Parts: sequence; structure tokens; C-alpha cells
Amino acid sequence: MTDQDNRPLRVAIVGSGPAGFYAAEYLQRQQPAVEIDMFDRLPTPYGLVRGGVAPDHPKIKSVTRIYDRIAGQPGFRFLGNVCVGRDLSHEELRAHYDGVIYTVGAQTDRTLGIPGEGLRGSHAATEFVGWYNGHPDYRDFEVDLSVESAAVIGVGNVAMDVARILASRVADLAATDLAGHALAALEASRVRTVYVLGRRGPVQAAFTNPELREFGELPDADVIVDPRDLELDELSAAELSAADDRTAEKNMATLKEYASRLPLGRPRRVIFKFLTSPVEILGTDRVDGLRVVRNRLEADGKGGIKAVATDETEVLPVGLVFRSVGYKGVALPGLPFDDRSGTIPNANGRVLAAPGTESALPGVYVAGWIKRGPSGVIGTNKPCGVESASHLLTDHASGVLPAPSGDRAALDRLLAERGVRVVSFADWQRLDSLEVEQGKAAGRPRLKFTRIDEMLEALT
Ligand code: NAP
Repeated sequence: MTDQDNRPLRVAIVGSGPAGFYAAEYLQRQQPAVEIDMFDRLPTPYGLVRGGVAPDHPKIKSVTRIYDRIAGQPGFRFLGNVCVGRDLSHEELRAHYDGVIYTVGAQTDRTLGIPGEGLRGSHAATEFVGWYNGHPDYRDFEVDLSVESAAVIGVGNVAMDVARILASRVADLAATDLAGHALAALEASRVRTVYVLGRRGPVQAAFTNPELREFGELPDADVIVDPRDLELDELSAAELSAADDRTAEKNMATLKEYASRLPLGRPRRVIFKFLTSPVEILGTDRVDGLRVVRNRLEADGKGGIKAVATDETEVLPVGLVFRSVGYKGVALPGLPFDDRSGTIPNANGRVLAAPGTESALPGVYVAGWIKRGPSGVIGTNKPCGVESASHLLTDHASGVLPAPSGDRAALDRLLAERGVRVVSFADWQRLDSLEVEQGKAAGRPRLKFTRIDEMLEALT
């Protein structure tokens, strides 16, 4: 028997969001158990569950209890504050593990490609989300909430989160773990009108039922829908009746109920506008308006429905624009990347040498948004993570994984030599308790650390 037969399989997972944890969970179920080292560039785990899920959705965040159980299993280590591509190269990881699974998500956003997008006051929704969630990357993000009106472009669930946070009562936000700096800024916010713009019709909207219904429950905001936007063209009516599930039908019912409401003169308004695309963000040094065009719908020739501009335009008097038209993955040094899809090219999780080829890089896998693009809910990452992890096990069983030359001790030495302060899961649990304690003192459920140096300082 060789040494390889006697030791457990060693897997590195890069990224500690849902896809990483579900891949880890699957590997932990194997006999003999697999040793897992989960890396994250932040000292904190959970990916978008901490940095993306809206603070007023605590039930969704409670999924971290499952991840904590996974992290508590024998053979699992969390190596936080270690950035692959900076502190360790891909090749070094490959040399220390039998397999590497990248679950790094989609770390940037898509742009609109219209004039004025670079003006002050024009932001990616993802920046705003990171900022209110206390993500260290966005701690110094500046957003001017002294304006009266804002536009959110896109009608996915991220757009819903952004519009809802802007229209929420501060007292309600204070009852959440929204970051302290963002709470102070939102307390001083003068934003009264939030436009939410869908380029296609209500039947094609990407938001889900509960997220749309939450607008009807905002105590301080009227929700306004123009009934004309709900008159369906033939294509939309056909799409609605042929739909596999009832999401669009239920959304239509909610929107009709909103359209029937009389504004109550509440301090804020959320105005949904469908069949509306932004064409230019106006302003000289900062945003002072948004030119939009009315669209009509047409078959796109591929079985879908696309928006086509008419010549009807108007200017919305907004001082802020948040584009919420999707996240996008970022290339990792040493790994292939498909710039068009913003993903690492892969065949069901096995990383390919280049987009369009069939040859897989042995021992390298992806799961989550860097594998399939930025879609689906947290639970979607479970089958996705399982699929990739199971390919790793199959490849191991068939002997195609290159044997690593180094082990855990060698990897730890390498990080120590480079002066990397590795944050363990026990360290994170200390940070977690400190955040809850800090919250208690401020009458909040949690007060997040929002800077990496503050986190490391608190651990000394
Ligand atoms: P998304 O669901 O893909 O929505 C993107 C939106 O942007 C769509 O309405 C899309 O319209 C629109 N869009 C794209 N390009 C555009 C353009 N050039 N001009 C105008 N509109 C444009 O993406 P997301 O909101 O970023 O969400 C990402 C994923 O996370 C989704 O699966 C979402 O459900 C999930 N998520 C879930 C929750 C939750 O469960 N509460 C919260 C947040 C996010 P078209 O349809 O016309 O392309």
C-alpha cells in the first residue's frame, strides 16, 4: 500500500459561501472522511449570506446554522483572511491538495453601457448592498442620500432589496444587522421617491412573490403601479398561460392589487414602471436625471420575448441611479475564464482548459455562481455543490487526480512564512460573539465589524 492509500483525501475549497459549504457537506459524508480546508479572503465566512442577503431577511440568514455544523465536523478547517491569487497561487494550492473546488461567486456587476454611467450618483446595486451589509470591500463606498429621488434599474430580487431598503423605516432597519455606518446614513436619507424600472413587462419580471409582496407591507411607503403597465400584450398573455409555475401569475395579482391602491400620502413612494429602459444618465458632474424610453415587446426569434424601444421618452428627475442588472464573475489568476458569461469554463463543475474545449484540468472544480452564473437562490447551490464534489470523488476513484507533493503542515508553513494571519473558525466564532455583544450595547441584534484590520485587532 502506498502512502497515498493510507491518508485521507485532501480537498481545498476556495470561498465560504453556500456552494462551498454544500460541496464540503457532501465530501464529509464519504467514508473514509475527506479532509477539507476552506479558504476565504475575508476573516468572516458565509459569502453572500453575510454580505448579500438583505438584513431584513433574517430567516434566510439562519441557514448559517447548517454551515456551522459543517464547519464543526472533524477534518474541516476554515482558513479565513487568506486570498488565493495573493497569499497563495492556484499552482500552490494544486500542489498541496488532491482537488481544489472554487466557489468564489460573482464578485462584480454588469453595466448598462449607456452615457452618464460614470457620473457621481450612478452606482452598482451590488456596491450599495455590500455597503449596507458591512462588507469590508464597500466600507468606504460613498452614496449621497441627500437627494429626493432614486431609480433602481432592473426587476430582479437584488433590485427589490435595494428599493425596499431605501423605502424602509429606519426604526425597522435598526432592528436588523444592517451595518452601523449605513444605518446612520439611511437615518439622514432624504430619498422620498424610488423608481423601479423593468425593461420588459410584469410577466417577465425576475422578482419572486414574497419579495414583491413586501412592498405592500412597508409602513412608510405608498407603492404605485400604473394599471396601463399591467395590460398584457398577446405575447405576455401567452407566456403567462403557458408558464410552468405560478410565480408570474401571483406577481400579476399583487401588482393589480397595488395598482388599485389609492396613495395614502405616506412619506415615501415606490413607483414600479415596466416596459421602460434607461437610455442616458443626465448630469454634468453628478446625476440629476435619467432619460428613459418606453419599450414594446417582440418575439426574439429564440422562443423568448425582448424589449424594443419606441420613440416615447421621458426624463425622471432622479439624483441617484442604481443599476441592478446582474452580478458578474471575475477571473482568477492561473485559471481559464469565459469573459462573455463571467464564469470559469466547466463541464458540470469540472474546470475546462479553455472555453469551448472538452479537456478538463484534472483536480480543479467550480461550484456556485462562478460555475453557472449569478442565478438561483441559496438552495440552488446545494445540488450544484454536490454535483461538482461528486465529480471530484469520481475522478479520485478513477485515479486521474495528480498526487499532491505537500500536505497541510507544509501549507501552514508557507502561509506562516508569508506572514499571513490565518483566521480559524474558532476565531470567527469569537468575532461573531463580539458582534452580537457590540449589538446588545447599541440595542441592535448585531453590530458588524466592517474593516478587516478591526477584525484582526479584535482577535489579538
Ligand atoms: P436577476 O434576477 O437576473 O435580475 C436581473 C434584472 O436585470 C432582470 O430584471 C433583467 O431584465 C434586468 N436587466 C438585465 N440587463 C438589463 C438592461 N441592460 N437594462 C435593464 N434591465 C436589465 O439578477 P439579480 O437581481 O442580481 O439576482 C441574482 C440572483 O440572486 C437571482 O437568482 C435572484 O433571485 C437571487 N436573489 C434572491 C434573493 C431572495 O431570494 N430574496 C435576493 C437577492 C437575490 P430581463 O429579464 O429583461 O433580462
